[in-house]
Amino acid sequence: MHPTRHIFARRFATAALGLLFVLLTACDRGPEPLKLSGFTMGTTYHVTVADAESADADALQKELDELLIAFNEVASTYISDSELNRLNRASADEWHPISDTLFDMLFMSMELSWLTSGAFDVTVAPLVNLWGFGPEGEPRVPAQEELDEALQRVGFQHMEIDFADPKVRKTRDITLDLSAIAKGYGVDLVALWLERKGYGNFMVEIGGEVVARGSSPRGDAWRIGIEQPAELPGSVNRAIRISDVGVATSGDYRNYFEAQGKRYSHIINPVTGRPVEHSLVSVTVISETAAYADALATAFTVMGPEKTRRFAEQHEIAVYLIEKTADGLESSHSSAFANYLE
Ligand code: AMP
Ligand code: MG
Repeated sequence: MHPTRHIFARRFATAALGLLFVLLTACDRGPEPLKLSGFTMGTTYHVTVADAESADADALQKELDELLIAFNEVASTYISDSELNRLNRASADEWHPISDTLFDMLFMSMELSWLTSGAFDVTVAPLVNLWGFGPEGEPRVPAQEELDEALQRVGFQHMEIDFADPKVRKTRDITLDLSAIAKGYGVDLVALWLERKGYGNFMVEIGGEVVARGSSPRGDAWRIGIEQPAELPGSVNRAIRISDVGVATSGDYRNYFEAQGKRYSHIINPVTGRPVEHSLVSVTVISETAAYADALATAFTVMGPEKTRRFAEQHEIAVYLIEKTADGLESSHSSAFANYLE
């Protein structure tokens, strides 16, 4: 039987909304906020700046689109000539100079791989392609031999980074997929761009990954909705209030395929080589940066609910989980998350 792909599947997964979305407030006061929006990374983005009344919106929009295009030319696996894909094609055992942006992302990815004991691992690219969730291949269930072969080329320990002079060396023929951190990192980049322009009250969102700074046009914290995992996107499971943090959600209820009545998630356990299988349907992390929150949300989806709860308490990480149980959806959160609940 040919696998059927869910209607929301693949990189268009979050085309309309992310798993997190901005909650509109009816009684906004004060001057109209500046709004910028568009498409990037196979999804939409939205920027709201509360303190930019006299800004030239068209000029800012143009500059922002250029910034995001430039970022994609570094980190996208869907652009064959991106810096990342050039590194993917580059030979093993030699040092390859990389840009500061790629260095920063790889450094952060390595740090998160160590922290999560390999649950987060950007070298999963061969597995992602094998299951048909990457730029290559169609969704299908690969044979164990294929998985074993791909697993030979997976493992963050096969990548070395030179800190003094940004360069990388692959000690095996590994390939990288930055999808689990790129949207978050992109959000942080846009936030930095706005800060450099002197803005201090804004919200940036790319495909549901968010950074909020200062206050909303209402003068208080920004409000975000964690989406209720359901067939129809857009209903709120829980509202949160945030300021000066990054937030990201991972979930497998929008991006999966089905074969022989079984559901296969786009998030892969880098140890087994197989899509994750457990009751966790949505993981939201709040952290200092959106990149960190993005990567952690993916890692927690691999770890599963029990391990995540222990890990989050031990490391004081703010995380909100939605699990599927016999009685329907059940939510829980770590102690650090309580501060953000509305
Ligand atoms: P996210 O939506 O941020 O959870 O990222 C999921 C995407 O990251 C997948 O579509 C894959 O391209 C990639 N990916 C899957 N599993 C992992 C993993 N264990 N570590 C890092 N990236 C992953
Ligand atoms: Mg992620």
